[in-house]
This record gives sequence, C-alpha cells and structure tokens, in this order.
Amino acid sequence: MKQSPTRSRSEGDTPKYKTYGLHNFREIPQLKSFTEEQRFAMEVVGTVLPFKTNNYVINELINWDNVPDDPIFVLTFPQKEMLRPDHFDQMASVMKRDRDRQVVAETANKIRLQLNPHPAGQMEHNVPMLGDQKLHGMQHKYKETVLFFPSQGQTCHAYCTFCFRWPQFVGMEGMKFAMKEAELLVAYVREHTEVSDILFTGGDPMIMTAKHLASYIDPLIEARLPNLQRIRIGTKALAYWPYKFLTDKDAEETLALFKHVVDSGIHLAVMAHFNHNVELETEAARMATDRVRKTGAQIRTQSPVLAHINDDPAVWAAMWKEQVNLGMVPYYMFVVRDTGAQHYFGVPLVRAWQIYREAYQTVSGLSRTVRGPSMSANPGKVQVLGVGNANGQKVITMRMLQGRNPDWVLRPFFAEYDENAIWLDDLKPAFGEGKFFFEEELQRMYHEDLSPESAFNLE
Ligand SMILES: *Cc1c(COP(=O)(O)O)cnc(C)c1O
Ligand code: SF4
Repeated sequence: MKQSPTRSRSEGDTPKYKTYGLHNFREIPQLKSFTEEQRFAMEVVGTVLPFKTNNYVINELINWDNVPDDPIFVLTFPQKEMLRPDHFDQMASVMKRDRDRQVVAETANKIRLQLNPHPAGQMEHNVPMLGDQKLHGMQHKYKETVLFFPSQGQTCHAYCTFCFRWPQFVGMEGMKFAMKEAELLVAYVREHTEVSDILFTGGDPMIMTAKHLASYIDPLIEARLPNLQRIRIGTKALAYWPYKFLTDKDAEETLALFKHVVDSGIHLAVMAHFNHNVELETEAARMATDRVRKTGAQIRTQSPVLAHINDDPAVWAAMWKEQVNLGMVPYYMFVVRDTGAQHYFGVPLVRAWQIYREAYQTVSGLSRTVRGPSMSANPGKVQVLGVGNANGQKVITMRMLQGRNPDWVLRPFFAEYDENAIWLDDLKPAFGEGKFFFEEELQRMYHEDLSPESAFNLE
C-alpha cells in the first residue's frame, strides 16, 4: 500500500510526541470535517473505554481519505458501535443532561462493570509468592515464563480500542497490576529455577525511559542467574511510536540497553505487536526496526484477529511477508478475548481459522512460524486446528500450545461444530462427551488454588 498524500510526515525529522485524548481531541485538524454528532459519539465512547492516540498515528498511519473505515482509525479512535446501543444511549443522555463529573464518572463505571472488565477472578489467584509476600505485578502461569508488569510501564503510546487491558487504563480501582521492585523479581527468579524466560509487559514497557527500563533489567543481568536465559519485551512502540528508537532523547540509551542484554549472553526478544501491514510501511517504522535488530535483539510479532481492522487473509499475508522481509519472525495470531468491546471486534473461531489458513497458504515457509488462531483461555493457549469430519460428525479440532499442566500441550481435542462460537466457553465437547479432557483437573487446580487464574495474558 502506498502512502496517501494525507498520510505524510508533517513535523520534520524529529517529531515530538504529542498525545490526544478526550480533553483535546477536538483540536485534531483532521477531525474538523466531522459533524459535531460524530465527535460527540467519540466522546461518549471515550468516556467509558480508554482513548489515547498520538501525532504519529494521526499523521503517518491513518489514511484520512479512508475514514471512518480506515483500520488504524478504528484501532485508536472510539467508534459509536463499540458500545452496545443501550450503553451508548445511557452514557449519551447523562452527558447531555448532566455535565456533573461525578455523575458522568459513576455512569461510566456502571457500564464498565457490565463489560466483563475482569474475566474470572484473577486478582485473588495468580499472584506469585516469595516467602509469605504476595508479588502483585507478576504472573506465573506457565512453568518456564514469568510475566512482569513494571509500575512505570502501565500505559502505552496510544491505546488500541480492542485492548483487553482497558480497565487498567481507565483507572478502575484495584484493576492495576504493577510492581516497583526489581529486587523482588530477581529474588523470585533466583528461587524458581524452572523459570528461563521473563516477559516484561504492561501497558507497554517501552513507554518507560531508558533509565527506568534499565532499573529493572540491569539488576537481572547483574544477578547472573543461570536459569534466566531469555528476556522478552512486549511492545507496540514500533507501530505506535517508532521514534522511541530513532529521535527520542533516550533512543541511543535504549538501544545501548538492548545491546547490553544481548552482550551479556541473554537472548532478547522484542515481542512486537502489529495489527495491520500499514504499521510496517512507514519510513520511521522500518528504520526503527533496523536499529533494534542491529542491537542483536530478535523481533517476534503477534496480533489478534479483529473485525473492522484485520479480518482479512490478505492483510495477514501482507503482514507476515513484510515482517519476514524486515527480519522479524511471525509468532502468534490470537483470538480477541471476551471483554470490553468484544461484540464489535470479535471474530468467530471458525472464521479466524479460515483467515489463518487462507493467509498461510499464500506465504512461504519463512512466514509459517506463526501459530494460531490461539485463545489465551483458562487452561492454556488453545489453538484452533480447524474443522474436520470424524465418525460422521463435523467437529472443530483444537490443541493447547501452552497449558497450565504441561502434559496437556499438543493433545488434540474436539468440539461440536459451531460457526458462531467466539471463545472456548462457547464450545461443547464432541461425541457426546460431557467435558473436555482437561476440565476436571482444571477444576481441581482451581479449588486447590494451586495454579493461577488469569485474565492477563500476552496480547
Ligand atoms: C503466552 C503466555 C506466555 C508465553 O508463552 P510462549 O508460548 O512461551 O510465548 C507466558 N505467560 C502467559 C500468561 C501467556 O499467556
Ligand atoms: S494492545 Fe498493547 S499497545 Fe494496545 S492498548 Fe493494549 S497494552 Fe497498549
């Protein structure tokens, strides 16, 4: 896709990061041609769900000739249909009638609580312990990998409208995961010798200054933990603010930190989040990718399948090909989870598999490192393998790529065909079996609280 004239850089070579949200989005020149009704609709939705975009997204990624259908516009700007009509009307009438902040905030919170902000009690479960200290801000679901949520990394350069972490960004009480203390992380990984990977996640850890990031990473390197072999950083900075690696004040320091990790003998994986091939096409994104790769870090890519944004095999094929051309490794295709605006973004599992399959068929083996479509569900990462016939019955075949019990991984299992199902919970076991093979054990783990309940997984 070529850049349209309206998607060009307008700020010279060193753009300064500028964000837009509810308080100032009316200043965005490109929105001047919208009707007041349209802008009000954005305000209504943006009052319930997080809304943040920035000058790079606006000036270099969105094709304004294609708005309102432009995928990157939908990705960062609130759309009326992201709220159910009853919720929209409720919020809109309160905002028209009553500008009282308190009332507006209470209404927004009431609606948020109906959007499944917090699937299945992960606040109580899934908190690792060090001695008798609870480590909020960490998650340890799969044996080899610990997730770490640094407290300064709990925001992003822009917010994806589909993001399942939305409750963190709207400041809902008790919905934040974060941890300040790098020492606790070091102590935990030292004690848990089964841990070989640490995944820094957020928000977006790359929102942090190089100094903050180093304050977490340097102690890990200095500790020389023999079991710690890989550090991953989950980020959308290459898509939302590539200048982080180019012209920001701490760009060089950030790259030097990456190089320091690599030079210490630890594999550094940047788990880059890209939702559309447009995000790979700007000069800034390409240059940033090049600079990150030159540190010795490996970039792996992932994204959910999203209606209105990328539910098209051609987009996925273009993404994977371009990623490989740029030296990245396609890693996961996810199914969007059941929270927030899922009714708007959700793609049925069977359709997601068709998109995966059709895209996969058109790319070379170098792109076929990608695995999906995968649901980060309670028992583990469940991959939809496809639709087939067995014993005269049409079934959906699945398997786990990650499991709460490692023994569950890569065992095929079967559900009754259902072309509308959008999540594991919607599926019934095939062949009249009452339960999937892992369910009893999962229930037992759940009761014994041996294993964490999780809503916060990798994107
Ligand atoms: C996906 C995921 C990981 C990492 O899994 P890999 O398959 O090794 O990429 C770790 N923890 C959680 C909770 C996850 O969802
Ligand atoms: S998907 Fe990632 S970048 Fe997007 S809002 Fe969520 S955490 Fe931030």
